[in-house]
Amino acid sequence: MYDVLILGAGPAGLGAAIYGIRAGLSLAVIDQSPVSGGQVLNTYEVDNYLGLPMISGADMSDKFREHADKLGVEFITAEITGIGLGGKPENIKTVKTDNGSYEARALILATGAAHVNLGVKGEKELAGMGVSYCATCDGAFFRKRTVAVAGGGDVAVEDAIFLAGLCKKVYLIHRRDKLRAADILQKRLMSLENVEIIWDSEVKEIKGSDMVEGVELFNKKSGESGSLAVNGVFIAVGVRPLTELFEGIIEMDEGGYIIAGEDCRTSMEGIYAAGDIRKKPMRQIITAVADGANAVNSLQNYLYLNN
Ligand code: NAP
Repeated sequence: MYDVLILGAGPAGLGAAIYGIRAGLSLAVIDQSPVSGGQVLNTYEVDNYLGLPMISGADMSDKFREHADKLGVEFITAEITGIGLGGKPENIKTVKTDNGSYEARALILATGAAHVNLGVKGEKELAGMGVSYCATCDGAFFRKRTVAVAGGGDVAVEDAIFLAGLCKKVYLIHRRDKLRAADILQKRLMSLENVEIIWDSEVKEIKGSDMVEGVELFNKKSGESGSLAVNGVFIAVGVRPLTELFEGIIEMDEGGYIIAGEDCRTSMEGIYAAGDIRKKPMRQIITAVADGANAVNSLQNYLYLNN
């Protein structure tokens, strides 16, 4: 029996772990991956985390994990299949996994978010055969080749910058005439000679028999259709919270984000939500780590009152 089980080993989960262990709580972090970091692992470079300028996502994840290891945090590698409430004694929470069940007095849900699909013909069929959702993982397969990135947010622009360093040519295809990405990223992107932005355009289809050969585009302003020959398509059109396991147990908004304030308290007593799964205005690494700290602070009061 643990004081707290932390579900997810991204920045929110690891932030909670170091605050929890320093507060003297018995805890463990459960994640299906033995490698910690969550979405940060798939990030080429992070330049907005205080004190760690221009750090690669992989190095940042290592640093986070090293910090937790140094403090003696226990990690359990298992796929979480559900949570249960109302154990005995009262208020005990159970985390069910493919490797047995674990019990705790409180839970911190920090399962993060995953990429959204574009939902066009060819996307599913050519996944892994030129269609990718992770530029840092798959970019090297497209060295000196031509690729397209779909999206206009931080991730799409970061991916395009990263790919420009490897590929002959990178097209960034965005559905509007303005990017959502941070200004500093936009400036870096615009300075790259082998990047071309295709504005106001949607990818309608990804074409190819065995491997990606091109994309069909539709320009929303001109109403014209066209095609582009590319060897790969990187899809970066946003993320969705990984909260399906908590449906019907914890209150969520229509997008599946868990409703919790800055204190991270959810609709269920003794269960806290931290990081990208929480309904909040800004999802960044630094705000995820802060959520981890706030969740621990809140649950300490809860454990004290329910001792
Ligand atoms: P995002 O900011 O939600 O951007 C998604 C982009 O995809 C938008 O440009 C959107 O277009 C476009 N899009 C959405 N659905 C589409 C569709 N069906 N077809 C075509 N385009 C579509 O998502 P993100 O870039 O994945 O970033 C997720 C979160 O992580 C953000 O809050 C971001 O700031 C954060 N992040 C932080 C860091 C960091 O801390 N360094 C790094 C990366 C990401 P519209 O603009 O037209 O809506």
